[in-house]
Amino acid sequence: MKKNSNKIVDTLKRPLRDLRISVIDQCNFRCAYCMPKELFGDNYPFLPLSELLSFDEIERISKLFASLGVEKIRLTGGEPLVRKDMHLLVERLNKIDGIKDIALTTNGVYLPKYAQALKEAGLSRVNVSLDALADELFGQINGRNVKVNAVLKGIDAAVEAGLLVKVNMVVKKGLNDNQILPMAKYFKEKNINLRFIEFMDVGNSNGWDLSQVVSKKEIVEMISKEIPVEPLDPNYYGEVASRYRYVDSTAEFGVISSVTDSFCSSCTRVRLSADGKIYTCLFAEKGFDLRALVRQEFSDESLLQSLIDVWENRKDRYSDERLENTRKGKKRKNKIEMSYIGG
Ligand code: SAM
Ligand code: SF4
Ligand code: SF4
Repeated sequence: MKKNSNKIVDTLKRPLRDLRISVIDQCNFRCAYCMPKELFGDNYPFLPLSELLSFDEIERISKLFASLGVEKIRLTGGEPLVRKDMHLLVERLNKIDGIKDIALTTNGVYLPKYAQALKEAGLSRVNVSLDALADELFGQINGRNVKVNAVLKGIDAAVEAGLLVKVNMVVKKGLNDNQILPMAKYFKEKNINLRFIEFMDVGNSNGWDLSQVVSKKEIVEMISKEIPVEPLDPNYYGEVASRYRYVDSTAEFGVISSVTDSFCSSCTRVRLSADGKIYTCLFAEKGFDLRALVRQEFSDESLLQSLIDVWENRKDRYSDERLENTRKGKKRKNKIEMSYIGG
């Protein structure tokens, strides 16, 4: 297959650049905003191994996407490092023509074990999620009483392995907004890029309400009252985080403002769920069942045509429409859960 021979755009002229692959729907955490433990209990029907895409299938699909313009792949979940041998998958994806960057989003707990092998396999970056520095609060948020130190050790291991590291913090009003400043100061000191994520209405189980969102404006104001900051230009087209620099240092932070300042007009991301469905938006209700075609032994040409059709028909701009729809009391009822589609 020729390298990026077939670049395509959707109905809003957005190119296809990023592929996010959820490799597993299971997780060792039970974050209240993502997989609340009351709903994701011991008997929750997670996907059996036979329903997950195999590494062969993921590699084949990724090659097809690369030929349509995808340059970046992010591995996510669930917790991607719960799946065995992830470094072997990274190694395969790293060999695909046209793929320039492979990243992983993780809660960090397994990084001490796997960071080195992942780096050697060709992983370039990790985003580690951490919502608080206070143990008790963090234990409550992750639903499993995991200590902050377990994640900090993972971050250190990733840095030591030579991976580029960013930290993601989801901010929910009244829950962890008191952690914004301690987190900002801690990661400024470490010179690690911290990104604050506005709490989003992904899935149907996290009880989202607009009043629980701390806006980008509030976050930046809170920080700049204590530490002078200045805005920075985006690094590239479609970058989701608004960037800021601390004036007295080289450290920076970002805010992902999906709710109060959405960025659908430059959204170049497609998502592949753990069981092989294609989603053109994080807030989609329905996916395209690519696994069915793969397992019916459709040719590369016909799979490629299906992917082109899906992207060329894409109209999604959920976040752009959210505030308007929230005001009108309109709600999507059957959105796919984040742990399944991948964040
Ligand atoms: N388990 C990995 C982790 O937590 O990094 C990867 C999957 S997780 C679904 C990906 C990212 O989505 C995490 O940074 C998580 O904090 C974020 N996330 C999950 N639910 C969210 C929500 N309701 N609003 C905003 N971000 C959310
Ligand atoms: Fe697991 Fe990540 Fe969801 Fe937390 S946010 S429950 S770590 S998948
Ligand atoms: Fe992209 Fe959908 Fe998010 Fe808009 S709401 S930025 S289309 S994933």
